[in-house]
Amino acid sequence: MSSNTKYIFVTGGVTSSLGKGIISASLAKLLQARGYTVTIQKLDPYINVDPGTLNPYEHGECYVTDDGAETDLDLGHYERFLNVPTTQGNNVTTGRIYKTVIEKERRGDYLGKTVQVIPHITDEIKNRIKLLGKTGNYQFVITEIGGTVGDIESLPYIESVRQLKWELGKDALVIHLTLVPYLSASGELKTKPTQHSVKLLLEYGVQPDILVCRTEHPLSRELKNKVALFCNVEPSAVIEARDASSIYEVPVLMELEKLDLVVLNKLQLTSGNYNSEMTEWKEFLHKLKHPKQEVKIGLVGKYIELKDSYKSIAESFIHAGVANECKVQIEWIHSESITPENVADKLKGLKGILVAPGFGNRGIEGKISTIRHARENNIPFLGICLGMQCAVIEFARNVLGLADAHSTEMDADTPYPVISLQEAQKSVINKGGTMRLGAYTCRLADSSKAREVYKKDTITERHRHRYEFNNEYLADFEQAGMMATGLNPEGALVEIVELTNHPWFIGVQFHPEYKSTVINPHPLFVGFVKAAIEVGVVVAK
Ligand code: GLN
Repeated sequence: MSSNTKYIFVTGGVTSSLGKGIISASLAKLLQARGYTVTIQKLDPYINVDPGTLNPYEHGECYVTDDGAETDLDLGHYERFLNVPTTQGNNVTTGRIYKTVIEKERRGDYLGKTVQVIPHITDEIKNRIKLLGKTGNYQFVITEIGGTVGDIESLPYIESVRQLKWELGKDALVIHLTLVPYLSASGELKTKPTQHSVKLLLEYGVQPDILVCRTEHPLSRELKNKVALFCNVEPSAVIEARDASSIYEVPVLMELEKLDLVVLNKLQLTSGNYNSEMTEWKEFLHKLKHPKQEVKIGLVGKYIELKDSYKSIAESFIHAGVANECKVQIEWIHSESITPENVADKLKGLKGILVAPGFGNRGIEGKISTIRHARENNIPFLGICLGMQCAVIEFARNVLGLADAHSTEMDADTPYPVISLQEAQKSVINKGGTMRLGAYTCRLADSSKAREVYKKDTITERHRHRYEFNNEYLADFEQAGMMATGLNPEGALVEIVELTNHPWFIGVQFHPEYKSTVINPHPLFVGFVKAAIEVGVVVAK
């Protein structure tokens, strides 16, 4: 077997939202199941340096990696499918590429040459692609090119793919994802958009090796042959990608279509040593499709119009549901719609309540009313990041009697049970900056619910926030029954709070949802769903 890293490029045509991320992750999963090491990279053609500054309504959730990179939500899919952490190197934007090139230009690295899209921008793109291969950790680097072929923004990326394909020869391959629409009036599947999209790629000098065709109906042998003939690919390399009921079904559908074998064959690799990855995957899928019960959990947040804003949370509920052999039905509730008067009505029938992360003032009071309702009515509660901060404010107001308690993030007057990182621990956390980003260690208190859930005393979780629990109030909180059961060992920052006299009430400063995968469902979500099932049953009696 050749030891060179193989590069697979995934482009998209006809329309956006065809699911390049899921197809890339599915192929990666199948290669992993054959014993190969794989990583997936996303190239995003927008000019933001990273999605950290983007409003969730723009591109959905901002996914955070262990090394503190703020990235595209597709990286979440890569981790959930492969169970291997990604890093900053797995997500590159046009903004980041240009920033590097402009910095080099300012340093004089280009020795007086005119700096141009070709070759300087394309060289930088190629470097970023090859960087992952050069780590020596992966036999495959799958690079997903964001956007649709033909977009002005995507041009330098497609040109980089053309050059790399030419340079790498047998070590590179292009998969093009297209749409085969169904015209109900004539009852026909249409191949013309695929033909046009491939023609466009050819104009840029790129011949795709494999076509993955999204379709609502099966592609006949005849139709596959037609696509193959018009697009210069082998009939076996025309892969049908039927709409699936769950993204977790896609690897299995791709396995049936032999996408992995076609790839290995084209790259002249053996079919590998089949391991248990897909067996475990199929067991998960079976449980997902055959839940033994259902539980309704409310997700209270302010970006619920776009469900992708809470992608990792929704997926964590799927994983945790399967672990409990239970279907979690999420009820999406807008935090701005909740008032102290209507809260009981809005949250009626829910067996658990999650208060979501977020930034800024909007919807805060609705979150606080929600938490009060969950606390006073013994409804299992999980607060994530801002959700925990709101739990702290609610407790300060309604239990400690600090009527104007607030976070300094909200420009409120004193007292402040939630304060900025700098105020909280003036440089006790050595990593610097005003935002805690990425993985931090957390110690769990003995005989706490957190300890019971995680079954260990030290954990690592990912953070993305500027505000912290104000330790000046800690003694008062603990005396009244809200305990700090997770602490950052470096700076004694409070990472977890929980209530002593409540069946299941946990607030976490970090984001557990980023670390839940199919193979490793997150213990906090598994525990939360279990509590919702059990407490729900008791309440129902
Ligand atoms: N806005 C809050 C902070 O910066 C919470 C952030 C979040 O929920 N991710 O601390």
